[in-house]
Amino acid sequence: MKLRMTYNGTDMKWQEALAAWFTQHTEEGVALLRDLVRQDTVNPPGNEYRAAEVVTGYLQRYGIPSTCYEGAPGRTNVLARIGDGAPVVFVPAHTDVVPVGDGWTHDPFDPVVRDGFIYGRGVADDKGPLTSLLMLAAFLKQYEGAFRGTLLAGAVADEECGSTYGLGYLLEQKLVSADYAIVPDTGASIYRVSCGEKGLLHVEVTFTGAQAHGSTPEQGCNAAWAAWEFLAALRAEFGDQIGYCPASAHAWFTPTSINLAQVQGGEVYNIVPGQCRVRLDIRYVPGETQEAWLARLRGYAQQVRDRQQCRGFDVRVAAHMPPYVVEADSPLITAVDKAVRAFTGRRIECVGMSGTTVCKQLIQHGIPAIGWSQDSQHQAHMANERLALSELRTFGVVLGLAFLALGNNLEAIRDGCTSEYSGDSH
Ligand SMILES: [Zn+2]
Repeated sequence: MKLRMTYNGTDMKWQEALAAWFTQHTEEGVALLRDLVRQDTVNPPGNEYRAAEVVTGYLQRYGIPSTCYEGAPGRTNVLARIGDGAPVVFVPAHTDVVPVGDGWTHDPFDPVVRDGFIYGRGVADDKGPLTSLLMLAAFLKQYEGAFRGTLLAGAVADEECGSTYGLGYLLEQKLVSADYAIVPDTGASIYRVSCGEKGLLHVEVTFTGAQAHGSTPEQGCNAAWAAWEFLAALRAEFGDQIGYCPASAHAWFTPTSINLAQVQGGEVYNIVPGQCRVRLDIRYVPGETQEAWLARLRGYAQQVRDRQQCRGFDVRVAAHMPPYVVEADSPLITAVDKAVRAFTGRRIECVGMSGTTVCKQLIQHGIPAIGWSQDSQHQAHMANERLALSELRTFGVVLGLAFLALGNNLEAIRDGCTSEYSGDSH
């Protein structure tokens, strides 16, 4: 079937062309997704080169050049550019999957389609979004020169184990640069956009007392009791579970949380512990700072010291990543909202993540990034992982519209841009 498109304001518009493309290529898309899932890319060990071969094969069929980069043998990343110039919109979908686990009712690497769903390891996380992305790349290739901007499509390795050989490698080696990034890996829905992440602060607080014989505790200073006093003060402020910090607020986020991860002190019955260590995992909302949290913790520890319940204490940061938000009025979020509204009539909702994702790595390298993907009904990492086939098209279309909106291409059509272009589909 021929797909003709003319930009004179009267002929087919981008949205209709995109929707038609995805409808016409449904079967091909399902076959591509099946082929991707058949490649065992369980990480560890990864073996993403298997999926990379499928990706490059598909791109070749549409005349799209691609480049492979390996951070280690077999850990293949594929990058492909469609279009030219700014803005460069980087969309990295990952090719590795988590281990299979128990409870599957069929072979997780031989996908089945039933009642409009496809079942298999990785169909939702993240090979389904990757399929939408590759189909979009094929669509855009037909119209290269007729839109502004570059889609930098990525099939990246190692997301499930820290991205050392995937996105981390590509960013460290400066193999990617982009104006914006959309990470198609939330599993939420096209209406819920991850626009920020809490800060992560891992802190170790160590109390020092004085060791003594267990039969004469009065001659020592018990560091375990000091830790207990410290934790009691935290608990008094943050509630029974030392969970949410009620004073912390941000519209997109749940409140700051504190997880008491570890308490370690003492050796045997007949020794008064001379040292006790407390490990806390704090996830704090944007607007708060690492410094303020450390000052707060030092304040509690100092109170314990002032009451002579310890001889000394040490507050040490084991890990820290600051929080971030992509502002609601940024071009990236505006474009996504515009795309979703155009195709579905609904507005998007910005949400903040409690955990950290690869978006943080992108942000740290100066690339504004959001998480946005298909609705997989939280199937990621589950047995019988599934994806509604309709999501391949829905997400492909809105991703395409968001990309075009970032390059202001949608407005050009609405304004009756007269530059004529027509292209034929395969
Ligand atoms: Zn994922």
